[in-house]
Amino acid sequence: MAKYLFITGGVLSSVGKGIITSSVGRMLQTRGAKVTAIKIDPYVNVDAGTMNPYMHGEVYVTDDGGETDLDLGWYERFLDLNLKISNNITTGMVYKTVIEKERQGDYLGRCVQIVPHITDEIKGRIRDVALRSQADLVLTECGGTVGDIEGLPFLEAIRQMRLEEGFENTLYIHVALVPILDVTKEMKTKPLQHSVNELRRIGVQPDTIVARSTRMINIDARRKIALFGTIPENAVFCSYNVQSVYEVPLILDRQGMGDFIQSRLGLSKEKASWGKWKEFVDALSNPPHKVRIALVGKYAGLADSYVSMNEAFTHAGAKCQTKVLVDYVEAERFEKRPDELATLKDYEGIFIPYGFGPRGAEGKIEAIRFARESDTPFLGICYGFQLAVVEFARHICGLDDANSTEIDPTTPDPVIDLMPEQHGIKMKGATMRLGAHKILVSKDTLAYSLYQKEEIYERHRHRYEVNPKHKAELEKHGLVFSGRSVDGKRMETLELNDKFFFFASQFHGEFKSRPAKPDPEYYAFIKACLDKKLGKNQAEI
Ligand code: GLN
Repeated sequence: MAKYLFITGGVLSSVGKGIITSSVGRMLQTRGAKVTAIKIDPYVNVDAGTMNPYMHGEVYVTDDGGETDLDLGWYERFLDLNLKISNNITTGMVYKTVIEKERQGDYLGRCVQIVPHITDEIKGRIRDVALRSQADLVLTECGGTVGDIEGLPFLEAIRQMRLEEGFENTLYIHVALVPILDVTKEMKTKPLQHSVNELRRIGVQPDTIVARSTRMINIDARRKIALFGTIPENAVFCSYNVQSVYEVPLILDRQGMGDFIQSRLGLSKEKASWGKWKEFVDALSNPPHKVRIALVGKYAGLADSYVSMNEAFTHAGAKCQTKVLVDYVEAERFEKRPDELATLKDYEGIFIPYGFGPRGAEGKIEAIRFARESDTPFLGICYGFQLAVVEFARHICGLDDANSTEIDPTTPDPVIDLMPEQHGIKMKGATMRLGAHKILVSKDTLAYSLYQKEEIYERHRHRYEVNPKHKAELEKHGLVFSGRSVDGKRMETLELNDKFFFFASQFHGEFKSRPAKPDPEYYAFIKACLDKKLGKNQAEI
């Protein structure tokens, strides 16, 4: 039988609940427990797929094709798991199911209400994850902040779960901000106290509180939190600012949080073993090398839009003892001021991330051209892959007006075109080509040297593809498609053999990158940036 941990947040959102949930999971996993994690998003969208990354951060894609909240990415990275669509629960999903059941007549005769029908559906979904994952511990993070109207049914559901599962099988963790005043340097616990009161008003008494603060909280603040939170002082922990998020499980464990939860839930007394995790964290601090990458994108103003990519760079950097400094460059800048392309020479690598629509596309194409002509290591992901094909078609194949039909529907040379099965699709939600698909890698290619396998599975999220009608012409001019779908029709990776490192993929390697297991394409890119910087030639590598 699984035990359930619930994580709520107070004072304000973006307080780091996702990292704390992941860290709690890691602390317990490292003590031998089988752990899984669920993110509750109280918004009415059915999933994150239709949300603008500029407002909500990146859309995280699971193996089974879920377009989920980016916190699932943190859970997967910290816990080294492959989660499913069902690990993300939204208001939209819950209501959709209940309304469909009502229309089918499942509740015939009864008035369908938030309590019990909506709350039953929420609890059912949480228990379903427990059952299917066979986990000992199920962590459920409630998105948003205590006091939000839309979060209420979820908090009510978790309140009921204590009654049904028992005190020894449930644990409430409340995370709230403790601000430090600029002038007096005082640690203020009042907002946290209010958020605990709000939680209690709903009927949830936290078992442990994590104060999120810039510095370690002092004894005074700890006493107040314990007193007003009605918990013992040894149940108060602090998540203070650290250089890397991967240190958070270590600092919480050092304060005794892992042991506290272990004994509170009556888990086996296994000791924590941090070996590999600690090695990885150590590799992040003061590495001997440094490379600078230009990420030329459309959502450059919000780093959360590219969080998995950023983390994939960090994982790759740790393995090459290299600090990866990523500059987010707005692609449109090169359209307005082409002379600024020359600033790209200050970087060891050029990276073009995922993207949608025409804004900034020409700027990205120019950045790819710069990378190819100057032989600067290049990695393109999804849209970056497609635009590398457009750039090659225009400047090497001589098809001056080649384009993707996503950018110019009337282009005479649509080298990138809508996938046949996408024609006629009107609904935007969950209709892209999504999730893990098998890819065949050709031997004697750069791709094969990265993956060392002829079959790989990688995650996707796209509607367009390399137009099969143009494939032969592109290949004739030297573009190598080294990875393909099983039927051979869909191009998955490209490379240019006469370059130091020029590689792109239709899929997203970043979603499978883990701290001590960097994704092959990101690793190879960072390594190439470093090797080139150190003046190594290909024969030495
Ligand atoms: N816009 C492109 C497509 O839909 C690329 C998508 C992406 O970069 N994820 O195919």
